[in-house]
Amino acid sequence: MIGQEKVRQCPMCGATSVDYSVLAGGGATCRACKWKGTTEQLIIADIEHIYGTRDGIGMALSNDMRRLFSNAAFGQDLVRFLVKWGFMQLTGDNKKDTQVAARYISSIARSCLTSVIEERENIEKGVVNGA
Ligand SMILES: [Zn+2]
Repeated sequence: MIGQEKVRQCPMCGATSVDYSVLAGGGATCRACKWKGTTEQLIIADIEHIYGTRDGIGMALSNDMRRLFSNAAFGQDLVRFLVKWGFMQLTGDNKKDTQVAARYISSIARSCLTSVIEERENIEKGVVNGA
């Protein structure tokens, strides 16, 4: 199982825009360079490895991204969304509810950063919309 801090990279060009089957021996393709192979051939890398170390630029980058999501209006809208769709239940304990919301915000910020990095690669490769 691949963790949230891990990404799979193409062994040919290093792009993270790879499609792969989660099954052993499943096929994998790279959307950037059109490499084809199996899931096992993909390189599993830490996200931090791609954009720096935890202490260095990578940390600054993810903190900066997190800051984008930490405004109160967004937080309230997000909580409304999470409650509406059953991802979280308000306990009435403001501290507890805030902690859960903060976890979601942190996770959203992390995924957004990954998407930004992937899209940047797509842009560099002249790929439109991952196609
Ligand atoms: Zn590739």
